[in-house]
Amino acid sequence: MTHRLFSLLLALCCLPLSAQNGRAEKTLRVDYQFAGNAEHQYIALSELSSFKGWAGRSVNVDSLALHGNGDITLADARTGRTLYTHSFSTLFQEWVTTDEARSVTRSFENTFLLPMPADSARITVRLYHANQQEMVSFTHTVCPDDILIRQLDCRQTAPHRYLLRSGSPAEKIDVAIVAEGYTEGEMEQFYAAAQETVDAILAHEPFGRLKDRFNFVAVGLPSAQSGVSVPHEGSWTQSVLSSHFSTFYSDRYLTTLRLFELHNALTGIPYEHIIILANTETYGGGGIYNSYTLTTVRNPKFRPVVVHEFGHSFAGLADEYAYNDAYGDCYFADVEPWEQNITTLFDFGRKWQDMLSANTPVPTPVEGCKPTDLGVYEGAGYMPRGVYRPSPDCRMRTNECKDFCPVCQRAIERLIQFYTQED
Ligand SMILES: [Zn+2]
Repeated sequence: MTHRLFSLLLALCCLPLSAQNGRAEKTLRVDYQFAGNAEHQYIALSELSSFKGWAGRSVNVDSLALHGNGDITLADARTGRTLYTHSFSTLFQEWVTTDEARSVTRSFENTFLLPMPADSARITVRLYHANQQEMVSFTHTVCPDDILIRQLDCRQTAPHRYLLRSGSPAEKIDVAIVAEGYTEGEMEQFYAAAQETVDAILAHEPFGRLKDRFNFVAVGLPSAQSGVSVPHEGSWTQSVLSSHFSTFYSDRYLTTLRLFELHNALTGIPYEHIIILANTETYGGGGIYNSYTLTTVRNPKFRPVVVHEFGHSFAGLADEYAYNDAYGDCYFADVEPWEQNITTLFDFGRKWQDMLSANTPVPTPVEGCKPTDLGVYEGAGYMPRGVYRPSPDCRMRTNECKDFCPVCQRAIERLIQFYTQED
């Protein structure tokens, strides 16, 4: 190869990958290890990879809808212009508040999908403490023609079925519903549970009204064995995503720590949000903002729980319930939480003050109020005092409540508009 030809090829490689309409044609997948303990935290780059297509948003790319507990920003290395930014929460940040983190250093997998930049770009990842102060940040440079960016093959995809297809992945919000703990022989049960998930979500407003903004795809990943691991009963199961109860030694806490495996399994299927359905009858679930929802299917509370957890993982909503005993330092009197459905009254003007009638007392006594009365009710975010919720009841408070409260509904609708706003 002559030098000139080589230069020409290099130049071709560096041609902008963006299409004429400004949309990325490829995805840059970035895998990190978030590591540390209660004292010190670190972020390390694990691997870069790339695949065809971009299912993420192509509007409002340079701003965040919600603050989150962390964010990742892609900026052009030459001009500093923000090309894409996204916020999230992580299990790692929850773990650093546990007793275990005082005596041991651990690492947690995290994967993010970014539009492939046309030229060299800087990626900055930031994590925040509960008081919104920075915990740790990490910046690295990515060149799109770096030969060590692994090129993933999208031709061999996991078995999947579309349950709702409203349009192209570039324009719609793509939700993957993933099987965990289902054998090949049980897969029809999974597809039925996935359909029930979609039906439950769309039975809640504003999801039902705005269903044409969503694609839902069920991904039938087969497991070698049925069910998931239950360590406190000594039971370990060969399930495809290696999920287990007893996360952080809490018996009912079911999670998967295998984020790289999860994203590997989804390669070739357009996805932005992930709901994992675990094949067990034990009640449980969790939702991590812009990471995943994981919930159990074979129990009577499945429908309200999966919608509640999707409220966390899709919309970044907080729990509106409280424990009688204080549950650690989740929220602080001098910090307004970023979650849209709770307040410490530190900066209530940013929340649902505009939705209250002028004569609503703040705080609002629960006694004598109607279930539909909007107000500022004490007890939310696990804390019986000092954190307030908008409504006596809500999908984010109890399994019995039928709907999201009006403040949660507005927050979800704003987010859907943010992701899918017309150009
Ligand atoms: Zn609510």
